[in-house]
Amino acid sequence: MAGLHGMKVKIIETLTDLGGQLHALYPEKPIYDVPGFPAVMAKDLVRALITQMRRYGPVICTRESVESVTSKDGVYWLHTDKETHGSRAILLAVGIGSFTPRKLPAIGADDYENRGLYYFVPELQHFSDQRVLVVGGGDTAVDWALSISQHARHVDLVHRRNEFRALQESVRQLLQTPNITVHTPCQLTEILGDDAKITGAVLSSQPKRIIKVDCIIGALGFHPDLGPIKRWDLDMVDGNIKVSLDTMATTRPGIFAVGDGISYPGKVKLIATGFGEVGIAIAQIRSYLHPELKGLPHSSNLKPSKMVAEIP
Ligand SMILES: Cc1cc2nc3c(=O)[nH]c(=O)nc-3n(C[C@H](O)[C@H](O)[C@H](O)COP(=O)(O)OP(=O)(O)OC[C@H]3O[C@@H](n4cnc5c(N)ncnc54)[C@H](O)[C@@H]3O)c2cc1C
Repeated sequence: MAGLHGMKVKIIETLTDLGGQLHALYPEKPIYDVPGFPAVMAKDLVRALITQMRRYGPVICTRESVESVTSKDGVYWLHTDKETHGSRAILLAVGIGSFTPRKLPAIGADDYENRGLYYFVPELQHFSDQRVLVVGGGDTAVDWALSISQHARHVDLVHRRNEFRALQESVRQLLQTPNITVHTPCQLTEILGDDAKITGAVLSSQPKRIIKVDCIIGALGFHPDLGPIKRWDLDMVDGNIKVSLDTMATTRPGIFAVGDGISYPGKVKLIATGFGEVGIAIAQIRSYLHPELKGLPHSSNLKPSKMVAEIP
């Protein structure tokens, strides 16, 4: 949207690929609450957003982490682990920061991480004809169990409580899917296997049970950590960046923020609200850089030739 309205844009992203949580955490999950799409796979939404963005030619720097910021003569200097970038305005869309999964406290978990035990789910085809154990009781665990069950031979789901913190409809489907077995209240205590692969799992049920599994998915959530941005002298609320609801401005002039990493009264962490916040932030950044320009014209009123590099 910034490019559409004539601003020069540079995107800096820690990961190898753009797409944030959608790409890194749930690329193959269908999303049902993005306006205009009755259902869209997360990876397809990311692909469409990238195609839409490329039209305006932003500079994209991946595998580069923003660490600190300094300012001089009205320009912010962003220092990353690779180089320094200058900009007159910054839009932070850092979400939950780095994705650090909560690790499974089971014996053997360290030995099999990424060798059968996954915290970031690979392509669903990977589970074809496998016996998969999912650990967790939230939306992520339940959704993964349901998606994987369409490819796997069998899915076991272990949760330490009897109640799930997931959509009621998803839990209903979970309990009715023939190739899913739910174990509650129960915990995974040990991962069994040989040098090459996982072969089984020890469950804490009474009496203790050993089940045969080929893969394990740890879905206990992530530690949200905004990392170095917490030291940017921005006001924070419960670990999130405080912004003003009407402008998306942080407490430092010229630094705006949107998405899951921000806080304002009534904030909801959804893709749709993030899109709306971007519209507000871009209008404000445009006026911040060029006070004579207010609001945003409709894209349908812009001539294609005027869409790029309108503002020097
Ligand atoms: C399993 C799951 C299912 C979900 N399902 C839905 C759904 O159905 N509908 C819905 O609306 N929402 C859903 N969400 C929530 C949705 O994914 C988030 O609201 C959305 O991803 C927030 O986008 P964001 O851009 O704010 O942050 P993120 O997606 O977290 O992206 C932030 C990006 O910033 C990068 N970054 C962080 N720190 C730095 C740094 N210092 N330097 C450089 N780069 C950095 C990160 O690597 C990341 O790529 C779901 C979330 C999960 C986990």
